[in-house]
Amino acid sequence: MADFFETPIEFIKGVGPARAELLKKELGISVYEELLQYYPFRYEDRTRFYKINELRDGMPLVQVTARLTSVEVIGQKYRQRLVAHMTDDTGTLELVWFKGVSWMHKQLKRGVDYVIFGKPTIYGRKLNMAHPDIDVATLAHAETKFLQPVYNTTELLKRKYLESKVLIKIMRALLKVVLPRIVDSIPDNLKSELSLMSANQAYQYIHFPEDSKKLDLARFRLKFEELFYIQMQLLKLKDGRAAKFHGAIYKDTTLLTQFYNDHLPFELTNAQKRVIKEIYHDMKSGAQMNRLVQGDVGSGKTIVAFICTLLPIGEGAQAALMAPTEILANQHYSGLKPFADAMGLKIALLTGSTKASERKSLHIALETGVLDILVGTHALLEDKVKFNKLGLAIVDEQHRFGVAQRSKLWSKNKDVYPHVLVMTATPIPRTLAMTLYGDLDISTIDEMPAGRKPIKTIHRYDSNRLKVNGFLKQEIEKGRQVYIVYPLIEESEKSDLKDLMDGYESACRAFPEYHVSILHGKMKANVKQFEMGRFKKGETQIMVATTVIEVGVDVSNASVMVIENSERFGLAQLHQLRGRVGRGADQSYCVLMSSFKLSADARVRLETMVRTNNGFEIADTDLKLRGPGDLMGTQQSGVLDLKIADLAKDGAILQLAREKAYEIIQTDPELRLDQNRKLKIKLDQLGLDYIKWSSIS
Ligand code: ADP
Ligand code: MG
Repeated sequence: MADFFETPIEFIKGVGPARAELLKKELGISVYEELLQYYPFRYEDRTRFYKINELRDGMPLVQVTARLTSVEVIGQKYRQRLVAHMTDDTGTLELVWFKGVSWMHKQLKRGVDYVIFGKPTIYGRKLNMAHPDIDVATLAHAETKFLQPVYNTTELLKRKYLESKVLIKIMRALLKVVLPRIVDSIPDNLKSELSLMSANQAYQYIHFPEDSKKLDLARFRLKFEELFYIQMQLLKLKDGRAAKFHGAIYKDTTLLTQFYNDHLPFELTNAQKRVIKEIYHDMKSGAQMNRLVQGDVGSGKTIVAFICTLLPIGEGAQAALMAPTEILANQHYSGLKPFADAMGLKIALLTGSTKASERKSLHIALETGVLDILVGTHALLEDKVKFNKLGLAIVDEQHRFGVAQRSKLWSKNKDVYPHVLVMTATPIPRTLAMTLYGDLDISTIDEMPAGRKPIKTIHRYDSNRLKVNGFLKQEIEKGRQVYIVYPLIEESEKSDLKDLMDGYESACRAFPEYHVSILHGKMKANVKQFEMGRFKKGETQIMVATTVIEVGVDVSNASVMVIENSERFGLAQLHQLRGRVGRGADQSYCVLMSSFKLSADARVRLETMVRTNNGFEIADTDLKLRGPGDLMGTQQSGVLDLKIADLAKDGAILQLAREKAYEIIQTDPELRLDQNRKLKIKLDQLGLDYIKWSSIS
């Protein structure tokens, strides 16, 4: 059956090799299934016929049946137009064509009844429709009222006469052959419980709905189905893993108690305590832990990660932390080191820049179990890196590692898999987390450490620069330091670098009494280090930089951040950048500079930043603005390549799909029950490829 849906579309009536080639090239459609899932992007309402005297200027597209009373070409040469008059028993309507005049002239016959579909406008006091759709009226028209699908096409397709109208014909031909072959894989009991439309009906009505109610039902069914299969896959993966992989049991809390009593630098937030408890619970459960920890910038993930290493280390095992970049690995290392030192634990850093001689002794320390914690980049994945006993693998993902790489870390233990903790630096909206990380348990640090003053964010136009500079002076006078950040985007790197240099010079001119540092990715590592050092020591008051400071810079005295051309940044990045200030006790500020001209989306982004410091709220807005495909480097992720469901809008359906999938896995994990037979076949067919794991990276 699967093969049938893989039939090339050229065999559909009305397609043929040439059109098949075009459709493949322009829309990426080559087989039945892909065409079947090429859903209309809107529908035209053909459910009602209007009388001519009901038509008003400015109405949307409407449908009228009327008789053609006259048709003639008016005007000369290039100014030619075709004018036709139509009447029904209520009035007269004028139709006009400016293009295809002679062709259309030949089609139209006086005295014939036509169904016209177009947008009425008033032109010179006369009711008029330009370039309407027009068809000879048949009995079928009068009887079938429907919503007419409109399919997206491209310029080239239109030029080759493959416009939406033609796709409609092709789609009808396709449905004729495929509908009888569609197997409904959703269990009957679930279908009746949720009043789901059958699969063939859903495909029929998504393309050719009789009315909006049927369309809604079809949409619901197909969205549910799409999300449900993904959740079934994810939960099966999760369940299968739990059944198959044992985890070492770590329950000795001696080190934890020691750390709490002697070295805890501050009271943990309730959220931190809760998350640590969840993780500890996993590590003593006997099954392998696979958990995601997410928390906003500054929510205190570092200490949580450290405390979690204490359980395995307390029983003679080791912990690893893998970060996506060298800067981040460095940052984690310097975050963890003071805690490790206080506890007398051995910690080391392994990245691409680790010297060969150091590497050697590091490998030995690791293999003999002298080393407790190893922090690094994917250098950790190399075969030469052998742990004595890896108990906990922490992966800081930022969506850059795939499951494949994660599992490579697990395989560092032969007998028992290490526990896996995935951390993400930016909050992810719930719907996205449920999909991207749906095979993991999720813990959320949803509370900021007490006593922290929320960052005040303001938006200022470039024309207000003098005032902004005055404000910066005030803050510097109070002893604070300032970041001025410029975008640097690869496509416009040259002009961006120039902006940065200009910005540096104008900062030097505007603040002659202060010292200004500059930092960008193109600088040599030692120069960067030097500039960073000067700023950290307070020798310079202002740091002009590109987004390299997004990660890895932590100067608690720097309490003001100015973001130039802020309209060019994405929301997630703005939030991440802003997280660089607000680390000390002083009131912090973020000033978003922009030109006066702003796109609607840019305006929403800046308003969102001004309104809230909550990373989850920001992530939600980001998802709504950009859609999941563009979010946080997930473009290649097959999980988010959804045909009909929309993670920004269909949260409720997703929740339902997950609940139902969960119920099924709970009651029938192997899908052995008769009612789940077709579902099992379907999932086996989809295979794990359905979720393109390896490409989430
Ligand atoms: P992130 O979640 O962004 O990695 P960090 O772990 O770097 O956050 O923590 C940010 C700052 O907050 C650090 O300076 C850390 O020492 C401090 N911090 C973390 N937890 C608490 C807490 N419970 N109370 C006070 N300060 C905390
Ligand atoms: Mg951190």
